[in-house]
Amino acid sequence: SRGTGGVMEFKTTCCYCGVGCGIVVQKDRNGKLQVSGDKDHPVNRGMLCSKGMNLHYTVMDQGDRLLYPEMRYNKMGQRQRVSWDSALERTAAVFKTLINKYGPDSVAFYASGQCLTEEYYVLNKLVKGFIGTNNIDTNSRLCMSSAVAAYKMSLGEDSVPVCYDDIELADCLFVTGANPAWCHPIIWRRVEAAKAANPGMKIIVADPRKTQTAAAADLFLQIRPGTDITLNHAIGRVLIETGDIDFDFIKNHTEGFDAYSAKVMERTVEEAAAICDVPAEDIRTAAALIGNAKGFLTMWTMGLNQSVIGVNKNLSLINLNLITGHIGKPGSGPFSLTGQPNAMGGREVGGLANLLPAHRNLANEADRKYVQGFWGGVEIGSKPGYSATEMFQALHDGRLKAIWILCTNPLLSLPDVRFAEEALSRAKFVVVQEISNKPETLRYADVVLPAAAWAEKEGTMTNAERRIAYLNKIVDAPGEALPDAAILCRFARKMGYPGFDYVNPSEIYAEHCRLTEGTSIDISGLNYEKLQAQRSVQWPFPKEETGAGTQRLFTDKQFYTPTKKAIIHPVADQNNSEALSPELPLVLTTGRIRDQWHTMSKTGKVSKLKQHIAQAFLEIHPADAAKRGIGEDQLVVISNGRGEVRVKAKLTDSIKKGVVFLPMHWGKILGNDANRANNVTSALIDPISKEPDFKYAAVQVSPYRKP
Ligand code: SF4
Repeated sequence: SRGTGGVMEFKTTCCYCGVGCGIVVQKDRNGKLQVSGDKDHPVNRGMLCSKGMNLHYTVMDQGDRLLYPEMRYNKMGQRQRVSWDSALERTAAVFKTLINKYGPDSVAFYASGQCLTEEYYVLNKLVKGFIGTNNIDTNSRLCMSSAVAAYKMSLGEDSVPVCYDDIELADCLFVTGANPAWCHPIIWRRVEAAKAANPGMKIIVADPRKTQTAAAADLFLQIRPGTDITLNHAIGRVLIETGDIDFDFIKNHTEGFDAYSAKVMERTVEEAAAICDVPAEDIRTAAALIGNAKGFLTMWTMGLNQSVIGVNKNLSLINLNLITGHIGKPGSGPFSLTGQPNAMGGREVGGLANLLPAHRNLANEADRKYVQGFWGGVEIGSKPGYSATEMFQALHDGRLKAIWILCTNPLLSLPDVRFAEEALSRAKFVVVQEISNKPETLRYADVVLPAAAWAEKEGTMTNAERRIAYLNKIVDAPGEALPDAAILCRFARKMGYPGFDYVNPSEIYAEHCRLTEGTSIDISGLNYEKLQAQRSVQWPFPKEETGAGTQRLFTDKQFYTPTKKAIIHPVADQNNSEALSPELPLVLTTGRIRDQWHTMSKTGKVSKLKQHIAQAFLEIHPADAAKRGIGEDQLVVISNGRGEVRVKAKLTDSIKKGVVFLPMHWGKILGNDANRANNVTSALIDPISKEPDFKYAAVQVSPYRKP
């Protein structure tokens, strides 16, 4: 930070999406904040989207903040203010009792891709290393876990190979299951600028909705939900038939091509086109655009990840990069966009129920022993802990007794959320660590711990291109709120665990960096001083690194698999989502809108952000609306066996017939729960990644009639 004329200037990083834009915060004598885009930052080059531009309001408006620890004192859920010592001693006593009586697997921690890496690190160490359970999962399970699994299966490790500079170097972009124009706006501005500079650049978009991203496409494939694999296989088939594949790369650097080739030949292009409901000619055109490209980038997010076949969808797309040899070179590669700001950092420290730090393998005994020795804790079990939705099932049926929820709002964000509410009401003990006094989870909390927010604590995050950035502390947290890492360390000490007496976050980070040494994500050459000086670097960043880290992976075509070859998986293409029926004939898909973030606990405080879209709505095709006698702005009921949602209808032919769309943001936090999309979303999960099927629920829509 530096200051002139009483105004202090700080450089930090946006805490919303995984783009990871650099922000300059100015703080005047009165503590008033202003933000602007950091012109020197390699990600955003001075640009910010509407959410980032208004980030300071979320810090300056403290009206909803939790200020003191609280404990519930009666069955009605009323709570009273207590000291930090009382809150943590009570929590430690309950956890010790439950662990003694039922074992360590009777407790669980549910965290967030918005936690800083240091917070993630101490949480993972606390849970896996000392409590002795792998029951730590995060809302990244709802977001990136299908991509994580697919990267591991195809490239050998969870490694995003590309960097944002590849956008400007690509001449064909295949954006599928993503709407970066709204959800990753600065990435999209870079795409638009690249296309303006290079009109030869071709953009293909596949999506059931003609989004703002699709509107900019040279070729738009408005596919039926759940048919992504069929589409990708058909494109693969045409590429093979036309010879637009990289034979040398396939032969020398991949395995599985023959089985893949046989699989994609099972359907003709015409058959695939009928399944996807797109013209066969468009599939051939997509293949021709890809086949002619010198740089081919695939870009995707939740449309592929949030699916009961999410891992297979990911693999079918990565296959297109592998058969064309478009990986490990400028302008090319598979590029999963990250929804949350630090989903990647969480994966680095092993902060999911099936991971170990630094991409070590939970199933590998030597890896577990190494981490246990490094931490000096208890034996780490080989069995993965409960994933996000499994945690709530285990609470529901009594296998899990206590849950600690931090930095996330599951009673808005989990699928089939009424089940999650019921599960939480059955828990013996609930700890909620939060910044806001609004989330519905607080109603179930036995102990409430007030946490510091963005700009009130320092730490690091890693964006979607493996770029690690430092976040400054700019203002003090209100009341007695503490940084999440400090809360977890205090609790660990109350439990009597050694190794949680860090003086500051840089010590936590130094320990995390040491633990990565010798692994594929080696950042042993990194520390806070370097990050503060350089602002951001890309991992790996080993000891000998003197520059800004590693822009691109696999430039030597050596993958992380045992044979060093990438694996082309001949995945099946059938969708396993719940079946449509005459009673439930429509596919519901959910997602973000441009100016809101997740469950609106931050963006909901900024009135400017409501100017774009002020309330929840249902997107429905005019033909589907007419069949049901539904008009524009009419109140409708979206229903199935799990529950219902009531919002106004928005008629648009930009959505495919037979498909309806609800934004994910609204719910009890700002009123009643009638507009909460997850009342009706599907509880099915991908069998490998455990990621829920948010993009496909069978529903009926009808006009609302007063009871
Ligand atoms: Fe923040 Fe994402 Fe917008 Fe950048 S694109 S300013 S990281 S919300």
